[in-house]
Amino acid sequence: MAQYHDAVCRHCRREGVKLFLKGEKCFTKCTLDRRAMPPGMHTQVRRRKVSDYGIQLRAKQRARRIYFLLEGQFRLYFDRAAKMSGVTGLNLLRLLESRLDNVVYRLGFAASRRDARQLVSHKHIAVNGKTVNIPSYSVRVGDEIRIRDGSKEIERIKTAAEIAKQRTLPNWLSVDHEQLTAKIVSQPVREDIDQTIQEQLIVEFYSR
Ligand code: SF4
Repeated sequence: MAQYHDAVCRHCRREGVKLFLKGEKCFTKCTLDRRAMPPGMHTQVRRRKVSDYGIQLRAKQRARRIYFLLEGQFRLYFDRAAKMSGVTGLNLLRLLESRLDNVVYRLGFAASRRDARQLVSHKHIAVNGKTVNIPSYSVRVGDEIRIRDGSKEIERIKTAAEIAKQRTLPNWLSVDHEQLTAKIVSQPVREDIDQTIQEQLIVEFYSR
């Protein structure tokens, strides 16, 4: 599967906001706090007026980078969301939130979505008792997610789970950080999802 190989802090600098792609480092040693200008620029530049297209493009890019997806993968999610009944923007966000790598991150089993993706691909995660190594696997209400028995002693999983105890868990998930098991209790509602994402602008971008 195609993957990102870029230095991830560039994405935050490009979007001008923290996307929290590096786990705990984002809270302690964030590059954006030291170098806020976009990549490739070494001095502050005068901001030009941004077109509607530019605003929509940035909204799409920001969401794509939050979920750590390539353009083709993100576009496929949009196409699926557009074919579903209901509001396309919310459908899109629900599809993205339901990815197994995102859920593992939300549960606090990994410090970032990038780490979560690696945990899934390296077979540390089981869904309903079966090992799943596909990061894009879509979880459903009622699914049980757990760290596999042989992987529970991995230091970075234990550290992430320890830190996650102090964070608020979205309402659609329940987790036992001691046993490293969790359950999908409902579908995410809009309030559960990153408020900086402007899904309507993404819909407008792809509807041009
Ligand atoms: Fe973004 Fe984290 Fe890098 Fe800061 S440290 S720029 S939040 S990826």
